[in-house]
Amino acid sequence: MDPVAPTLSAVPGPSRRAIGVDLGGTNARVAIVDDRGQVSRLTRVRTDSRPTVVDLILDLVAEVRESGTTDLGVGVPGQVSGDGQRVMSAGFLNLAGTDLAGKLAERTGLRVVLDNDGRAALTAELAVGAASGARSCAMLTIGTGVGGAIADRGEMLTGRGNAGQLGHLTIDPRGPVCRCGRRGCLEVFASGTSLHRMACEAGLPTPVDAFALLDSAAAGESAARAVVARWAASLRAGVDIITALVDPELVLFGGGLGEAAARAVGLAPPGSSWYSTRTAPAALGDTAGVVGAALIALSA
Ligand SMILES: [Zn+2]
Repeated sequence: MDPVAPTLSAVPGPSRRAIGVDLGGTNARVAIVDDRGQVSRLTRVRTDSRPTVVDLILDLVAEVRESGTTDLGVGVPGQVSGDGQRVMSAGFLNLAGTDLAGKLAERTGLRVVLDNDGRAALTAELAVGAASGARSCAMLTIGTGVGGAIADRGEMLTGRGNAGQLGHLTIDPRGPVCRCGRRGCLEVFASGTSLHRMACEAGLPTPVDAFALLDSAAAGESAARAVVARWAASLRAGVDIITALVDPELVLFGGGLGEAAARAVGLAPPGSSWYSTRTAPAALGDTAGVVGAALIALSA
């Protein structure tokens, strides 16, 4: 089976456990996760707290590893080869071209599978979270960047390996330049980095507390209202494009800002009934990535 296309039916029988790692642009998380999505020993550290990403993951694995552990799943913020072994590009992390799975397998003796972090998060939400029972679901993970994934009929949409890069949907072709080289991607308007930048430009307090910002906007504070309106409009534009493209039952917002983003998008109604779909916060919050990475490893 294609290791990047786990299905619910592929989640194996009881009592298996794997290590899940979620590499974010700012924080990395590790946990032991069983095949029912139960999490233990969840640990979070800053991604830049070790000299290299390999050192970081090795330290995280050593922190939680139990005797008998055989599998390690790692979610990375970028493109992963179809066999789940190499990082093709990793956005905020300098991992392009790295045989990350091979290096980690050699140093740990574990069976290692990589996947995109957005797909890992949606895998977890489908299995044990807010998308459980949904036939189709898209997910936007709002953190340092914007990740994404799409599932249809319980299976992850993979295309040639990298379908679902929803942070790079074009919202404004004349907008700011994105990391990917194009202009006006969803990520340059909707990520936590972008929200911070917009708040700075508006003279609002930083670092941004997204819920405080939403509350200020609801109370009528004009600078907060303007920033929230821009954020909400970009999120809505992303949801509208996703709906036009794949018409999912549900669009989930995950990542560190997922809950706030789900609240913000409710402030910007769809442009027309063509784009009407349900939006909701992810149920697993920012643990979805570690849970999904481990479930993918167990089902590979
Ligand atoms: Zn882009």
